[in-house]
Amino acid sequence: MYRVNEIFRSIQGEGDMHLGSQAVFVRFSGCNMSCAFCDTAHEQHTVMGPDEIANRVLKLDPEGHCIVVFTGGEPLLQLDERLVDRLLEKKDTDDFGNEKRLAVETNGAKVTEDLSPANDLGKMLNEFEEVTVSPKALPCGEVIMREATTFKLLWPSPIPTEDIAKILAQAPHALPILQPRTSKDNYLFKQHCKDAVSQARLWTEQYSKYWRVIPQTHVFMGLR
Ligand code: SF4
Repeated sequence: MYRVNEIFRSIQGEGDMHLGSQAVFVRFSGCNMSCAFCDTAHEQHTVMGPDEIANRVLKLDPEGHCIVVFTGGEPLLQLDERLVDRLLEKKDTDDFGNEKRLAVETNGAKVTEDLSPANDLGKMLNEFEEVTVSPKALPCGEVIMREATTFKLLWPSPIPTEDIAKILAQAPHALPILQPRTSKDNYLFKQHCKDAVSQARLWTEQYSKYWRVIPQTHVFMGLR
């Protein structure tokens, strides 16, 4: 059974690979961190089984066009092969014949890897089209970083910037993104964006990796 905070349909407003895609979000309750800046009220939950979750996703996306995004809290504390298999078998192609697509966003913490219920985390993550690691503290788990397709760093950074080279080396397949922190203070948000653009330019030269700057676009649209 899984502690689920909410399941809803929206668009993917973050990241790079599926930005703007129609998406069903499965938000798990609970996290292994307690960041001071956390803006996700994820603690409330309903206990659900794999069939209930798969049926709810199917109801929200009967055509199968959506990418299913697991988020939290920290999804890897609960996500396992049983649920992944259930979702993949429930509807494996959409109306256009595209295969079901899964994505997960994790804080990547080593402790998450140690506590993950998946028997083989690497094997399970292989089923995902997008594995976004957005670290809030170090160290990151080796398996998670090896499977990461996107490395998303909030800006200003919650982790020491002098460790970036080491982290990038851990995640050879990941596209790096700076996500300026959203703020209700418009002046502060614009400052975060400007600073992120400067930092992306600097790190692109420094690390020979192309850094993108992508804010939370769904916020501009008034969406969740
Ligand atoms: S890792 Fe994310 S969900 Fe967990 S406390 Fe930090 S900001 Fe909140």
